[in-house]
Amino acid sequence: MRISVIGCGYLGAVHAACMAQLGHEVVGVDVDASKVALLAEGKAPFFEPGLPELLTEAMGSGRLEFGTDMSAVAGAQVHFICVGTPQKRGENAADLRFVDAALEALLPYVAPGDVVVGKSTVPVGTAEKLAERLAEVQPEATLVWNPEFLREGFAVQDTLHPDRLVYGIQAGTEGARAVRLLDEVYATPLSEGTPQVVTDYATAQLVKVAANSFLATKISFINAMAELCEATGADVTQLADAIGHDARIGRRFLNAGLGFGGGCLPKDIRAFMARAGELGVDQALSFLREVDSINMRRRVRMVDLAREVCDGSIVGRKVAVLGAAFKPNSDDVRDSPALSVAAQMGLQGARVVVTDPEAIANAEAKWPDLTYAPTAEQAAAGADVVVLATEWDQYRDLDPVAFGEVVAARRIVDGRNVLDPGKWRAAGWTYRALGRP
Ligand code: NAD
Repeated sequence: MRISVIGCGYLGAVHAACMAQLGHEVVGVDVDASKVALLAEGKAPFFEPGLPELLTEAMGSGRLEFGTDMSAVAGAQVHFICVGTPQKRGENAADLRFVDAALEALLPYVAPGDVVVGKSTVPVGTAEKLAERLAEVQPEATLVWNPEFLREGFAVQDTLHPDRLVYGIQAGTEGARAVRLLDEVYATPLSEGTPQVVTDYATAQLVKVAANSFLATKISFINAMAELCEATGADVTQLADAIGHDARIGRRFLNAGLGFGGGCLPKDIRAFMARAGELGVDQALSFLREVDSINMRRRVRMVDLAREVCDGSIVGRKVAVLGAAFKPNSDDVRDSPALSVAAQMGLQGARVVVTDPEAIANAEAKWPDLTYAPTAEQAAAGADVVVLATEWDQYRDLDPVAFGEVVAARRIVDGRNVLDPGKWRAAGWTYRALGRP
């Protein structure tokens, strides 16, 4: 099938490459000419494991092309909208300008029978408005809402083998036809037994923000327990292991630490709260305000811990921050807890050096005032304290004895609870972590 993908960022570029891998003919369109130039050469504009190989293969097959000219989408039967929906400046609500602009630009090329598929994360009610606009211009086309659940770092795997497919459709025969077309697009994952939920627009849009709210709540729950552990001398990692053995609770997403960040969870829970307010049901989501507060408090606590291990002051102290990406296996620094902590410590007078295996360029563009070093050893040379902020494997695997040779003082704050305290203390380090004695 011929498919178009509008918006080729973390979601769209991966989606385009994966759709080509599934055997479709794909054209990706983005307004960012520099991103498109890289993609058109088969190069990934961001770090995502498996994407470079997939792009090379798909470009080689001749089934994948990228451009900035929207007219290239003419002739595609299915058009995926994958543009950004960031938080509005100074407000909790989502900024839908890019979604609206993408649809307007697409409309002249939508033919009768085409299906426009929304994948961006949007406030409930958006699909209904977009469907109205589509019907004004091309009444014989159909809109489906098909939210995306991929995880950065596993985006290729998650797109090729999703854990579920959700289609939000308008009732009626056109809806049934659109479902058949999307089933053809996703024939391979469906044949593998991927569960499918066909529902109305409102439910499909809510599924995405409900899922992210649940995940954010799970993280903030264990981080709230970490606060209790800090006040009582208990160990939150053992507590998580113990409660996680209950299958109803489960151990995944129950890692206490510096909390969540990135381009999705923080802005999605805030936009959800804002939308609930508009709908007159803000009380239903008031718990998300607490989820957000707990999450942000962890960042403050992390700076406090670094100060505590430095005998009460970080002024003039050299701090090495391991990690800049919001999570490992990504170069995404949007709302990164690591950079938030690094910047706070810099503002409070510390000499901060940040390192990351993949995200330094993005971090430098966003936080040019911080100092960066290419490796953990270079960042930590002469450091008074080391702060582990993003749990990349190379930081989990650091040898405390060898690493101890490069620092000025053996002090480490483990913001992700991934180091073995016994091993680090045995090597002469003062080891502190969030939620652990
Ligand atoms: P992104 O910022 O990486 O990508 C968005 C892209 O859209 C950019 O390349 C931008 O240039 C392009 N764009 C903006 N306006 C455009 C227009 N009018 N026409 C064509 N292209 C346009 O964002 P992302 O992380 O890929 O997220 C996109 C959407 O997917 C968001 O709604 C996000 O919440 C959702 N989502 C993201 C993830 C994720 O892990 N990143 C997962 C699930 C859902």
